Amino acid sequence: MFGFGNKEKKDKTKNPEYIALVEKWDAFLEKIETRFKESLAPAEEAVLDQLEDGNYDMISNMTAWSGIKSQLLQLSDKIETTFDDKVGPKMLEYIERYDLIDQDQKGVVLGESFRPRIERFEIILEGKVAQRFFDHAIQFLNEDFHCTQCNGKLEVKKDVFRSHYVGCDYCNTTNTFTPNNKITEIRWVVDNIAKHKALKEWDEKELARKSCKSIRSLRDGDDKTELVNAYNNWETKEKAFWTKYFTERATYVSEYKDTIAHDVEVKMEWAFYDDKKRSDLYN
Ligand SMILES: [Zn+2]
Repeated sequence: MFGFGNKEKKDKTKNPEYIALVEKWDAFLEKIETRFKESLAPAEEAVLDQLEDGNYDMISNMTAWSGIKSQLLQLSDKIETTFDDKVGPKMLEYIERYDLIDQDQKGVVLGESFRPRIERFEIILEGKVAQRFFDHAIQFLNEDFHCTQCNGKLEVKKDVFRSHYVGCDYCNTTNTFTPNNKITEIRWVVDNIAKHKALKEWDEKELARKSCKSIRSLRDGDDKTELVNAYNNWETKEKAFWTKYFTERATYVSEYKDTIAHDVEVKMEWAFYDDKKRSDLYN
């Protein structure tokens, strides 16, 4: 009807100058990804070195790691500000705001990937640090301890890492064995050793959780089979992780053995059942 009726609306995203901007943005994101990946290996080395240099002071070791960690997390802020301040405004000279969403999203996806990747890296790193600390601190427990009365050799418990009474086999005197700080700290580093040993189960429960959370919300009358199966799978994997974790932990600290089932239940409540209760299963 009108003269321009057949004319296709020109696709602005095909503009060569705009395409150049997209390529530059992609290159920037690739650079950030490379920097993230290349920071991890030296981070591990630095934190492990710091442990020995700092005379196995776990507090300052954790401080060293959290400094590196926050720098890594800041990479996602850098992506966001670069897009908002520089990339986005330039692109808007060529395209409409709704076309910008795809470009913004690339940065958001990369930025959001850092936290879970760091979390997994942290399990491995803290597991290695804890194991190295354990190997160092356990030496103090393997020393000989003697009765205060008769100087006979005492058999201290090797799997409690806290003060306890030790009867002397020679003169029957009850001695109080008070471990040094390093031995006491073993009680909490074993958590990280156990978590590292349960990494396979951790990966599996994370996968099961993500796949469950990726199911779109259900409406009234929708079939719930898929969601039921996903929650059942997640429950199995989540429980397998905590069971492995608490079982490993109890191999170091014997008094934890009696509470494994209870400890798993407590964690399941917080890590799984709370979420399930709020899900679309009960709509
Ligand atoms: Zn004695």
